[in-house]
Amino acid sequence: MKTHSRIVIVGGGIMGVGLLYHLAEEGCADVMLIEKGELTSGSTWHAAGQCPSLVGNYNMAKIHHHGNTLYPKLEELTGQYVSWHASGGIRLGRTKEDLDWFRWMRGIANNVGFRMQIIGPDEIRSIDPLINTDGVIAGAWTLDDGHADPTGLTNGMARGAKNMGATIVRHNRVTDIKALPSGEWEVSTEKGTVTAEIVVNAAGCFARRVAQWVGTDLPMCNMEHHYVVTGPVAEYVGRDKEMPVIRDPHASCYIRQEQDCAVIGIYEHVGMTQAWAPRGFPNWDSDSELFPEDLERLMPWLGRAMERVPGLENAGIKRVFNGAISHSADGPPLLGPVAGVKNFWMCCGSSFGIAQGAGAGKYLAQWMLHGDSEINMTGYDPRRFGGYANDDYMLAKGFQDYGLTYITPLPGEEFPAGRPSRTSPLYDKLCQQGCVHTETFGWERPKWFSLDGREEEYSFRRNNVFEVIRDECMAVRQRVGLLDLSGFAKYDINGPDAGDFLNRICANRMPTKVGGIVLTHILSENGRIKGEITVTRLGDDHYYALSAAAAETRDLDHLVQGKLDAENVDIINITDDRGVLVLAGPRSREVLAKLTDSSLESDSFRWLTGKEITVAGVSLRALRVNYVGELGWELHPPMADLEAVYDALWQAGEEFGMVNFGLYAVNSLRIEKAYRGWGDELTNEVTMLDSDMERFIKFDKGDFVGREATLKQRGKGPTTRLVYFDLDAGESDVRGSEPVYDGDTVVGVTTSGGYGHFVQKSLGFAYVPPEYAGPGTRLEVELLGERCMATVRQDPVYDPQNKCLKA
Ligand SMILES: Cc1cc2nc3c(=O)[nH]c(=O)nc-3n(C[C@H](O)[C@H](O)[C@H](O)COP(=O)(O)OP(=O)(O)OC[C@H]3O[C@@H](n4cnc5c(N)ncnc54)[C@H](O)[C@@H]3O)c2cc1C
Repeated sequence: MKTHSRIVIVGGGIMGVGLLYHLAEEGCADVMLIEKGELTSGSTWHAAGQCPSLVGNYNMAKIHHHGNTLYPKLEELTGQYVSWHASGGIRLGRTKEDLDWFRWMRGIANNVGFRMQIIGPDEIRSIDPLINTDGVIAGAWTLDDGHADPTGLTNGMARGAKNMGATIVRHNRVTDIKALPSGEWEVSTEKGTVTAEIVVNAAGCFARRVAQWVGTDLPMCNMEHHYVVTGPVAEYVGRDKEMPVIRDPHASCYIRQEQDCAVIGIYEHVGMTQAWAPRGFPNWDSDSELFPEDLERLMPWLGRAMERVPGLENAGIKRVFNGAISHSADGPPLLGPVAGVKNFWMCCGSSFGIAQGAGAGKYLAQWMLHGDSEINMTGYDPRRFGGYANDDYMLAKGFQDYGLTYITPLPGEEFPAGRPSRTSPLYDKLCQQGCVHTETFGWERPKWFSLDGREEEYSFRRNNVFEVIRDECMAVRQRVGLLDLSGFAKYDINGPDAGDFLNRICANRMPTKVGGIVLTHILSENGRIKGEITVTRLGDDHYYALSAAAAETRDLDHLVQGKLDAENVDIINITDDRGVLVLAGPRSREVLAKLTDSSLESDSFRWLTGKEITVAGVSLRALRVNYVGELGWELHPPMADLEAVYDALWQAGEEFGMVNFGLYAVNSLRIEKAYRGWGDELTNEVTMLDSDMERFIKFDKGDFVGREATLKQRGKGPTTRLVYFDLDAGESDVRGSEPVYDGDTVVGVTTSGGYGHFVQKSLGFAYVPPEYAGPGTRLEVELLGERCMATVRQDPVYDPQNKCLKA
């Protein structure tokens, strides 16, 4: 065995091998995959092999689509038989929400490039005459997906990787991984030691155990999952065309033809599922292991499956597979670097690894080798979780995620597992005031306030909370509103080199005067956007950085890993130490003035400045900045004083008609101001020039990470461009991922949007080629199957001169 390899991958399931193949294809052949048994002897060998195109997410659809494009030609590329069956699939829909989801997904299909049609019950039966369509109103027919032999696919990619120079070592368990003083890794195995620059954890259900060798943990758990194989189905015998795979949410199952028999896989709902080695560790000896079958658990669902395809009833059950399947806390796999551990990557946590193995490998390989992936990896980055994701949280979420596999994902729908995990001291008080919370990075954050007890009727269209959000928005624009955003990530950055350090790793210039605030971005060497932080200079050597709640681990990692050993800087995560109250609206100054002796007038407290003041007897950090585009302050008291400050503000605000508001309203208010969002408009896919953020770069301040690449791009001009638009929408608004058309050609994709309640316009952002970016350009956006005319705008529709902010 070689003793050195640039990259070592631990684990030879489809995820590890998919990565190996794509690393080699991207030009890195100095990579060694080590597998303790045979390739595929973890979860992969027993998988049912389905590769669906229909997944509820634009970037994940791209991951699946890459597999469905590569797998059919893998045999030709490598000579390995993979048994690709281009069966297509039909997902059945029973409700108008299912149908809207199909419409939304068809927009994604048009963008990503796979074929999808929405068909009625008659057409479903004409394609698959065995289906009973009772209760079905539509089907999502995806024509480019199929199924294959998972072992064949894995061996095909393994053979391809070897042909390109990669190394595979089988029957060799990795027993430990240690950091060397050189910064490299020492990978101990049963057959000797390998030194590697980079290690990737692709150990499937064992990944948590491997992660713990390098002092980290993984938010995933291993579930059991069954499928049964029936005896011959009379109606399948003698057919010359294979049936599409049927996915039925009512039976929570997939049904597919396997020669003359059927495979029925069940995702039994929450409460009946079982975990394998729940949060403990599977035994290393586990190899090609199946668990005892538990048909009783499946029976209610199998019954429904047989009602759906009555021909299955007489086929009998020939074999039952019950195998292990890993689940992350929120569903998608863990693809990316590990916080605080240099050169250690994750490629695990996939519950649809057969469908995802190739695509996950492709985009992760790009990230590892070139610094960025061409798709938005925000939702797969393992740093999307933090320390709050403990054993109880993980188990609850893993079970929930398993049970939700066939549930139509509705916008805004809240699920209870693992909640509340992180709360501010105001949580109970706000609940009593009707607050409906949503969860971000474990935090419960106000979403909207139900003042009359109504519950949201989740929908892809404007729903019964539309007018409630309008009232919250109007109150902020016309009077004053209060919002608990304590989940904001907060870091104190101190030390003699703090300013130089931040200027080196951020694109904007740090405030030259104490009290100044800047919005700035952390870029990759390629100039792509990694993070967005707001920095306030609180002292000569003291900076206070704020970031999105969801970016707490990520931006801390960007800061810590970006620091050079020689730089004398302390970076401290103080997220839990301080609360945040957003006080915003034209009357906010009058409210705050009742509680502080500090002058709040613009000549002494300018927009984009911050300082320590006393409010209601509490010394706090007050920043004159907000994301809703109004006169206002963010107040950051010690967490222990948050409630006292809130109570005082609430009392002081009464005479001005103050309201609580939530994140639904924030989205409406920020889109009126054309404020971009990290993770949506600002992602690893794009640069500051692409996203029209050049005003936040200071090229003249000296070198900073990403400067050279940005300058180079400036010379050439961007190839994509963010546009802000209003559109003639009907009863739904842009959510992101909708296709943008010029005539019949898809020319772009929306990133986010919403209804601007104050300006009474439907608004959104999209990336399009630069020739479509001129103000006044007319484009069409497809919303739930309907084309809506959009007009590119030059300026924010609300207060383009920032008069309100500066008032
Ligand atoms: C019954 C069933 C049906 C399924 N059907 C489908 C389907 O139709 N479509 C789909 O997309 N997904 C399906 N899945 C899910 C799919 O099987 C998994 O998502 C996928 O196999 C995960 O691949 P992996 O490479 O991450 O893990 P694994 O296949 O488990 O690979 C991890 C590998 O790492 C090795 N390893 C671990 N520790 C070490 C170590 N210390 N040293 C060396 N090697 C190590 C293991 O031996 C193993 O081979 C199904 C799952 C089940 C249980």
